[in-house]
Amino acid sequence: MSVSQLARSIKASPTLKLNETAAKLREKGEPVIHLGGGEPKSKAPLDAVLNCATQLNTGEIRYAPADGLPALKKAILRYTEEYYGQMMAPQNLIVSSGAKQSIMTLLYAILEPKDEVVYPAPYWVSYPEMVKLAGGVPVAVVPEDGSFQPSVPDIADKVGSYTRAIILNSPNNPSGVMYSRDFIGEMVAFCEKKNLWLVMDDLYNRLVFDGQKAPNPYAFAKTIGESSKLVVVQGVSKMYAMTGFRIGWALGNREVVEAMTNIQSHQTSGPVTVSQWAAIGALSGVQTSIESLRLTLENQRNVMLERLRTIPGVHVTKPDGTFYCFPDFSAYNKDSQKLAELLLDRVRVVTVPGKEFGMEGHLRLSYCGTIKEIMDGLERIKWALDPQAPNELFLGDRKLVRDWA
Ligand code: PMP
Repeated sequence: MSVSQLARSIKASPTLKLNETAAKLREKGEPVIHLGGGEPKSKAPLDAVLNCATQLNTGEIRYAPADGLPALKKAILRYTEEYYGQMMAPQNLIVSSGAKQSIMTLLYAILEPKDEVVYPAPYWVSYPEMVKLAGGVPVAVVPEDGSFQPSVPDIADKVGSYTRAIILNSPNNPSGVMYSRDFIGEMVAFCEKKNLWLVMDDLYNRLVFDGQKAPNPYAFAKTIGESSKLVVVQGVSKMYAMTGFRIGWALGNREVVEAMTNIQSHQTSGPVTVSQWAAIGALSGVQTSIESLRLTLENQRNVMLERLRTIPGVHVTKPDGTFYCFPDFSAYNKDSQKLAELLLDRVRVVTVPGKEFGMEGHLRLSYCGTIKEIMDGLERIKWALDPQAPNELFLGDRKLVRDWA
């Protein structure tokens, strides 16, 4: 083996790998339904596209500062003030090539070798690998009661002298569950008391259902300003359906933002300039697309829940937001990898094994596709799993016959 030990310890992103598998099967004409995806299907806001196109038309596309274009930083600070009620200075903000890079750069900036980073399971697939890349040790906290609402004592139990940071992602990828106000408030206080970094991965906090609103972490912070170790991570990917533009950001104290900027300046330099102009357009333009996406997703969630509940033995926690749910399929197979493979092989439905998110027996299903994809996908899953289902199923003009128990 010629690659490094570190490289060998890092797995490919399972979700990106699944996208490739689905695309290859589709190319071969296979009737694949992709319930594994992580991006909304709506178009980017018109203001984003126009702003980007205007910039592109000048033909002068130059490097941007390592921490982002001043005009984008201004738009993000305005958004932060409006949405979080928090006034920040440009020195508190770094724009990155996606929230992914913001988190990665942050971990490089704060971790000493072997420092531990604690986060509740189920968790976003990239956290453990990112922590390892930055030389740290990932520590997942699996809730004792099997619920998706983490508890402060469970987390406190895993915090020791090597713990440097806690990451919370709410509403959560993959469960869709939004952590309670009390929990967020207590975690802010806990991290302040223990002098830990608290990374709030707020990427989905505008995509929340049932009239709820995501708790604002700043509302609980007692330590503010430059001694605060609260870092909020955001981006345009999910709320504006702009995944391909790769623009995210982090807000934190000046010292950490400066360190992140130095690191980013050697990694990628500033994010792609035209993408930053698109983000300026999105943040400064008409805001209706967020609400219309939110409403669409809420409706799609309802359809998915209704269909899932028709599969005997499957338990699902109602998602409060995002475009994922994380049903428990252990009544059919405790090995989520095998189950996901079976569903892909037999009925051509792509799902993501729960194992990747730190919880066996579950599958992550996305409802960011069309209603038809959700309904057909769930019909196929039910057919593949339920022994009471009829012996035959038609995928288009292809007839499938159940030849397994
Ligand atoms: N955090 C979470 C929880 C996510 O689900 C994602 C994307 N799947 C990201 C961060 C990264 O988002 P991006 O890099 O597209 O901004």
